[in-house]
Parts: sequence; structure tokens; C-alpha cells
Amino acid sequence: MSINCSSCNALVEREDCHKNRYGEYICKKCQGAGVRFTRAHRLLYLQAWWEPRRLFWLTVTVVAVLVLLWFYFLLPELRLYDFIPAIFR
Ligand SMILES: [Zn+2]
Repeated sequence: MSINCSSCNALVEREDCHKNRYGEYICKKCQGAGVRFTRAHRLLYLQAWWEPRRLFWLTVTVVAVLVLLWFYFLLPELRLYDFIPAIFR
């Protein structure tokens, strides 16, 4: 089974190349030259990270944290503990 190297585009055997975390196949020659990934595939990988479902949960988390912070800073303003006599404070 021959595969095209993602970096130099040379046709190499599957055993002679390494599949990186981005799903690219890098041949041993390119690996020896220090190539770990290509810029284009890394951009695609970053693009895939911003999928709608992940973006939705990120938004929900940010809103939840903001609401919690808002309550945290709002509680002293509400003076909910005014019924407690000053001697117990
Ligand atoms: Zn190569």
C-alpha cells in the first residue's frame, strides 16, 4: 500500500511513513528533516475544532460563569443578611 507524503508529496510505502495527530502521513525522509506536520492540515485541524456543537457548549459555559460572577458580586448589594442583628455579624 503506497501513500503520498503530506509534506513532499512523494509516493512511499505505508511502513515508511508516520501518521501524525492531524491524520497526515509524513515520510521518514521528511521526518528526518524535522517535518512533523504541514501548515495546511494544521489549519484544517484548528478549523474543525470550532465545530457548532463545541462552540455552543463553550458559549453556555461562558454565560454560566458570567451569571455566577454576577450573582457573586450582586449578593452584597441585595443585603439579604440585614435581618441578622449586628451583634452576630
Ligand atoms: Zn515526505
